[in-house]
Amino acid sequence: MSDFSGKIALVTGAGSGIGRETALFFARAGARVACADINPDALDETLGFIRQKGGDGIAIPADLSTPEACEMVVAKTIEGLGGLHHAFNNAGVAGSFGDRLWDADGIHRTLSINLEAVIWGMKHQIAHMVGNGGGTIVNTASIAGISGNVGTLDYTAAKHGVVGFSKAAAMMYGPQGVRINIVCPGLIQTGMTTIEGRPITEAGLKKLSPVTGQMGEPADIAEAVLWLSSPKSKFVYGVALPVDGGFSIN
Ligand code: NAD
Repeated sequence: MSDFSGKIALVTGAGSGIGRETALFFARAGARVACADINPDALDETLGFIRQKGGDGIAIPADLSTPEACEMVVAKTIEGLGGLHHAFNNAGVAGSFGDRLWDADGIHRTLSINLEAVIWGMKHQIAHMVGNGGGTIVNTASIAGISGNVGTLDYTAAKHGVVGFSKAAAMMYGPQGVRINIVCPGLIQTGMTTIEGRPITEAGLKKLSPVTGQMGEPADIAEAVLWLSSPKSKFVYGVALPVDGGFSIN
């Protein structure tokens, strides 16, 4: 694991699943971590785990579905911890499905949290990093960001948007010292994939994790995020990295 001592990381969606695990990974690697999430109790729990292991961080409760909230989270990180070196824009919701596939409110919610929050977060993260010696940003897309065969509409649109926006930003801001990449999880065991009444079927597992036939773990994604955030990947720009049990093999 790379050493992130003296570094400050911001993780959104840190109350659960992939975000929580990545916040713990950053803390274990020595970073101080700003943890943002809509769920304050879950955030407190994440901070508790970080402190139990001797780490340090702050909790920033926020509903990231507005540009103002995204700006506030970056400002509170800088104010509370004294800077920002690494951002992981990861908060997300499952898209609209079933009889809500074309529901206008549902589509708006999916796009605002899964795509627009990444855009508005990056706006303020980049502005700070460019003026303060650079940094890294990793955004969570999905296999739905690189394939149209995941069975969702608005979620697929949002995640393709994350990939496209991040690649263009990587090109634009890389020369100014901000290195931007994307992680594309396959099926990972988290709150999002264990929703009651919507269990993953054997056929779904076979389709989405064709090599392993198993869900991945949040730690599989956290490992990739820390690598993409570390100097070990210093020659890697604008990559949409699948971590997906073989889904994207073609
Ligand atoms: P999760 O539900 O465990 O975690 C998502 C977190 O985001 C939760 O803590 C939730 O409270 C937070 N969140 C939701 N809406 C928010 C809002 N408006 N403002 C702030 N925080 C909010 O799910 P996860 O699987 O850990 O998801 C993390 C990311 O990974 C998401 O972007 C998701 O789309 C992506 N992803 C997950 C999978 C998977 O199989 N689990 C696959 C591909 C991509």
